[in-house]
Amino acid sequence: MRILTIQMGLRRLRAQSGTCKAVGCSLTLGLLLAWVAWPADPLALEMRKTLQSELGHLEALYKHLHQYPELSFQEARTAERMARELEAVGCEVTTRVGGFGVVGVLRNGEGPVVLIRADMDALPVKEATGAPYASEVTSRDEAGREVPVMHACGHDVHMACLIGTARMLAAFRSWWAGTVVFVAQPAEERGAGARAMLNDGLYDRFPRPHYALALHVSADMPAGSIGYVPGYALANVDSVDIQIRGIGGHGSRPEDALDPIVIAAQTILALQTIVSRELSPFDPAVVTVGSIHGGTKHNIIPDRVELQLTVRSYRQDVREKILASIRRIVTGIAQAAGVPEHLAPLVSIKEDEFTPAVYNDPELTERLAKRWRALLGAERVLRGRPVMAGEDFGRFGLVEPRVPVCIFWLGAVDPAQYEAAKSQARKLPALHSPEFLPAIHPTLETGVLAMTSAAMELLGKPQVSATQSRVRGRR
Ligand code: ZN
Ligand code: ZN
Repeated sequence: MRILTIQMGLRRLRAQSGTCKAVGCSLTLGLLLAWVAWPADPLALEMRKTLQSELGHLEALYKHLHQYPELSFQEARTAERMARELEAVGCEVTTRVGGFGVVGVLRNGEGPVVLIRADMDALPVKEATGAPYASEVTSRDEAGREVPVMHACGHDVHMACLIGTARMLAAFRSWWAGTVVFVAQPAEERGAGARAMLNDGLYDRFPRPHYALALHVSADMPAGSIGYVPGYALANVDSVDIQIRGIGGHGSRPEDALDPIVIAAQTILALQTIVSRELSPFDPAVVTVGSIHGGTKHNIIPDRVELQLTVRSYRQDVREKILASIRRIVTGIAQAAGVPEHLAPLVSIKEDEFTPAVYNDPELTERLAKRWRALLGAERVLRGRPVMAGEDFGRFGLVEPRVPVCIFWLGAVDPAQYEAAKSQARKLPALHSPEFLPAIHPTLETGVLAMTSAAMELLGKPQVSATQSRVRGRR
């Protein structure tokens, strides 16, 4: 590729320049042209070289984190390790920000502030990957039960990529100017950590970001690729508890009772009309009744039935409309069934469990995608589709004045396994599955390169000439 560029440059120069007939002159100009049009920019080459020397450290860090996972709100040792790793690259580190949150600030002169976030918590899942570094950890959950613990959502990859990015940005500090705020966030799986860190002054005690970035592993994209979604990428997630109340009695005497099971059945079916009949087909949403509990025996009419719902949407007005409709339908059906006012159903929207939608700033996302295509090759950078899963990273963008955010997908499936799954139509283990095991390589390399280049795209340029900075960058 490079030789061809030089030859083409020479030929074009000779053809175009009637005044420059001497071969020596053509050659000098040709080489100059070839340098300017150098296909792989020297920074990218240097970055790949430096990354190679970092991989041993990052792989060991990843395996350690994978082997010793911690549940949400219990990330003490993970946070300690992240703090040490960030200190080692020269960050000013603060621990205990919103629980076990860690903030590392890397200052490098005047310029934009870029926040990069990784989540730290694992899940109550029994690992079944058979990996030599598989987790055998158990812990007590919030109810006091002994549960197995596993990094089944790839947060260990996210942390290793965060540290890899910190090490790369520290090594290449002569190429950029500004401040990077590294955030190791607790309790993402409970939708609580981002809010806790923000409430603890993340944007007041530390430099306020101009941009916030994150990545999440993908269980259905091959390692070596990344996916981006401009606009809404992940959904609003609401949890709703409903208690339908009636009057209990003997199963043989319905006339003396007010049966909450029948009311619940009517309610569940009526709730399905919110998405199908009340929303525009262009506003995606989900209303799922995931749990229903009522009654104890064949011949007893119970006095209550409890439902648990998950409600997904993207836009805030759609979210509000769905929640209002749920209240209206639940109340209305109870009234139609003759439930007296003092037994009206109880609807509780769990605000503390709400996760807002992630809206990837379209301009920012397209800008980064262009950078990634140049760095990784267009075939490895894929435009993805939004999903209805939740991620509390969206909160980093919602503090007024709003911060443009971008979360992108990092392919983590072993490429051979990916191809086999395609040809044999076998299902790949999903996120949260006991069998989900990211391919370490080239997932880590790709994540670190993508995140480092994204940060450098957004940070300022140093106040020295390009030549000087090239020399300094090689030291
Ligand atoms: Zn998860
Ligand atoms: Zn996750």
